[in-house]
Amino acid sequence: MIDLHNHTPLCHHASGEPGEYVERARELGLREFGFSEHSPWMFQYEGEQIAPSEEEFAEYLETMQSLREEVTEKGDMAFRIGIEMDFIPGCEQQARAMAESFEFDYHIGSVHNLGDWIFDHPDHLTQWDERDVGKVYEEYFKTLRQMFEWDLIDIVGHLDLPKKFGHVPRAGYEMYVASLLPLLIESDAVVEINTAGRDKPISEFYPSPTVVAHLARAGVPFTLGSDAHKPSEVGRYFDDALALLRECGVKEIITFDKRRKVGLPI
Ligand SMILES: [Zn+2]
Ligand SMILES: [Zn+2]
Repeated sequence: MIDLHNHTPLCHHASGEPGEYVERARELGLREFGFSEHSPWMFQYEGEQIAPSEEEFAEYLETMQSLREEVTEKGDMAFRIGIEMDFIPGCEQQARAMAESFEFDYHIGSVHNLGDWIFDHPDHLTQWDERDVGKVYEEYFKTLRQMFEWDLIDIVGHLDLPKKFGHVPRAGYEMYVASLLPLLIESDAVVEINTAGRDKPISEFYPSPTVVAHLARAGVPFTLGSDAHKPSEVGRYFDDALALLRECGVKEIITFDKRRKVGLPI
């Protein structure tokens, strides 16, 4: 199997050496493994670092290239180099320059903040109490739709992230997913089953099984990522993720080689 969503300590909120992540992937018998570090323009609170600086991102790319050589030499696994592009309105120039400066295998597009609120940050949970949950989802999905204007995204990261701590609108959020669907189809974007959500208070994958079924019916393609921030998280719950995809009638998962889609039968 494949795991395309993994971090390195260069984002300041992950631990373990990149080589240890690769070792874990090898132990699990994954056929492809990819890192997707956060982008340097990620929104951060004053005095807090949760993303690599420009210099650290350059270091990330250097480390990745030598790791790719090592893994390719061994010949037992494909190694991919990606980026988790934080979608922030106004950062388009930086994102475009980044995409042109390096030949990534894929770009994961993610929304982690709404204005100056990082809604998935555990230290800023109290903000949820002051907000209307439905409005948060409305704004989140609106921002996600804007992300497609960049035309740089191959994979939509953790599609229903606002549910992380258990906040879900009483009326659900299917209508927002439906509003995203035409853009997903038109842009040919792939949605990741991000298995990290299973270890969060919501205790389910991003997106939820209901959303996965909805998207699968519409023919949206899927990929797989653990969003590992330490080596032991690589490939977490992948058997369940594959079972869910098969249940929804999905026949292949997508990986990327220099931003070209490659389907792997499941
Ligand atoms: Zn993320
Ligand atoms: Zn991530």
